[in-house]
Amino acid sequence: MKYLLDIHTHTVASGHAYSTVKENIDYAREAGLALLGISDHAPAMPHATQDFYFANLGILPRRFGGLEVLFGVELNILDYDGNVDLKPRLLKCTDYAIASLHPPCIRPGTVEENTAALVNAIKDPYINIIGHPCDPRYPFDIPAVVRAAEENNVLLEINNSSYNPDSGRRGGEKMTVEMLEECKKRALPVILGSDAHFYSLIGDFSRTFPLLEQAAMPEELIINRSVEELKNFLDKKRKTE
Ligand SMILES: [Zn+2]
Ligand SMILES: [Zn+2]
Repeated sequence: MKYLLDIHTHTVASGHAYSTVKENIDYAREAGLALLGISDHAPAMPHATQDFYFANLGILPRRFGGLEVLFGVELNILDYDGNVDLKPRLLKCTDYAIASLHPPCIRPGTVEENTAALVNAIKDPYINIIGHPCDPRYPFDIPAVVRAAEENNVLLEINNSSYNPDSGRRGGEKMTVEMLEECKKRALPVILGSDAHFYSLIGDFSRTFPLLEQAAMPEELIINRSVEELKNFLDKKRKTE
């Protein structure tokens, strides 16, 4: 496998994913990943798990042989002020947080409203990654969001599942290339995420490769190359709390 880490994956706790924590871990080990992150949907997603699931993440081991495992969350951005669906006392129990716009939780707004939602979430001290920003249902001001991400040590995700022709987010290729070019200009790394809702999709970034090529994205700006670089990046945000 070309890349060593995937920290956007789901389990049955998300309500519409089909593998367990152990199945995800076993597969990540077989696939040769060095770091796996499990990021189940937060409670505002219909039929997702609830607060106690996140409160109890501390009991889980973080190492399985050669594989390190982080337990995070995929938050729902609830409004254009960037509010999300876990309280800080629960976010403290997670190793990292992805925040995303999902139609069941927030209505697509104007470019200004969507940009405000993303920029305000980026400023949240617990949010490390914006999940699948390149969703054509939520157009946004790309330079403004990339600038905010850079200023607040947040990674923007290139989400493999979004380019599946069956995805609700299909059609985001052009905005993705534009966002990659803007990140390249500012030397801001991006993170690839599989967004696997079944274990065998973990570590699959194949749909993102043509877009990375189109934008001529330098390898050193893909943070999935290095566990250490990712952890340093995550630390920059949460240590500034
Ligand atoms: Zn999902
Ligand atoms: Zn999502």
